[in-house]
Amino acid sequence: MRSERIEYLIAGAGIVGMALALRLIERNPGSRIVVIDKESEVAKHASGRNSGVLHSGIYYVAESLKAKFTMAGNRALREFCAQRGIRVNQCGKLIVATNAAELEKLFELEKRGKANGATVELLSASDAERIDPNVRTYQHALWSPLTATVSPSEVALAFKAELEKRGVAVQLNERFLAYREGEVLTSLRSYRVDRFINAAGLGADRIARECGFGKEYTIIPFKGIYLKYDKNETDIRTNIYPVPDLKKPFLEVHFTKTVDGHIKIGPTAIPALWRENYRGLSGFNLLEMLGILSWEAKLFLWNSFGFRDLAFTELRKYDRRFLIRSAAKLVKHLDPQGFGEFTTPGIRAQLLNRSSNLLVQDFVVQADRHSVHILNAVSPGFTCSLPFAEYVIDKYL
Ligand SMILES: Cc1cc2nc3c(=O)[nH]c(=O)nc-3n(C[C@H](O)[C@H](O)[C@H](O)COP(=O)(O)OP(=O)(O)OC[C@H]3O[C@@H](n4cnc5c(N)ncnc54)[C@H](O)[C@@H]3O)c2cc1C
Repeated sequence: MRSERIEYLIAGAGIVGMALALRLIERNPGSRIVVIDKESEVAKHASGRNSGVLHSGIYYVAESLKAKFTMAGNRALREFCAQRGIRVNQCGKLIVATNAAELEKLFELEKRGKANGATVELLSASDAERIDPNVRTYQHALWSPLTATVSPSEVALAFKAELEKRGVAVQLNERFLAYREGEVLTSLRSYRVDRFINAAGLGADRIARECGFGKEYTIIPFKGIYLKYDKNETDIRTNIYPVPDLKKPFLEVHFTKTVDGHIKIGPTAIPALWRENYRGLSGFNLLEMLGILSWEAKLFLWNSFGFRDLAFTELRKYDRRFLIRSAAKLVKHLDPQGFGEFTTPGIRAQLLNRSSNLLVQDFVVQADRHSVHILNAVSPGFTCSLPFAEYVIDKYL
């Protein structure tokens, strides 16, 4: 097998791997960078299967990487799209409360948002109705005008085109197999590399372990399913979100107004049985399932981070009537018969800390002089991708 000499090899052509490649080639024009992906196209996993929301940094605790990069990432991606004529739906977002207890949390979110540099405005219920007449809230709602939606696949394909234009090789159908002392072995060849970067999403924890990192973590995959509302596109005019449980890294079922004006509800956070457990038996892996099931059974038994309740509630969301009822609380009128098909599901590469049995909230980067590992690139990882890439380069490369 021939061995190629290059400067950077990145495993994973999702948005994170490609953002890293883009910022690297911009800073080091002419350097030899290869991005490999096991799939036949870029963004076949989380980066092409997410809600497509450019978030605006409201939820995250100060000092977290998520807080630091969301607003900057939102700006950077809107600029990237504007320069290339990529569609952006600048429809904003309302966060609504259903009772007095949630109202308190809404005030907390306003504080967090402002501390994170997000543009947020606390509105009265009637002002919120001026933005979306269908919204239902308790006394106040939080308005985020800079939240926007894109087609994540469209953005990812534009990243790929930009990389190829600048001389970065995006090699598809090529799987990372092993790393030994500056040598990366893939399914097609081997590379001698100065730096190996692991941005492999659902596969990132395994690759990190192969390189001696991430031993304290494992991925517990959580599936997000969506249901499309077909009846009338004007029934919802903006993204509408509930106040989430801030102890969990999920935002609860909400309304997304997609880039082309459609309405969808979701995503759920249903514990998945294997990493690529999208539909039926696709991506089935018996060993992986047994490993994940044994972790899920332990979390269920110990009820870590309220896993028992989460599992019961989330599994019920496979029932479309239950899923519709979860979303219906956020609006005044919705025709339950107006929903169509389930759309493309996505799976979160959510890290679990094996010793604390808690879900990791922030992005995690581990590195030495030879390799860098991006772990837990969960939501809002799409939004954060460009400034997060700059941070990784500055700090680790
Ligand atoms: C349901 C859902 C909704 C979300 N909504 C939003 C949102 O609205 N806004 C937002 O900002 N973020 C959102 N996110 C988060 C966002 O999608 C992720 O943070 C982001 O896509 C992570 O990108 P990535 O490149 O790390 O991972 P991925 O896109 O999963 O890319 C990893 C790549 O690595 C490849 N790979 C894996 N193993 C190997 C191997 N051995 N060899 C070669 N290649 C390999 C895979 O094929 C894949 O293409 C959502 C995520 C989910 C699941």
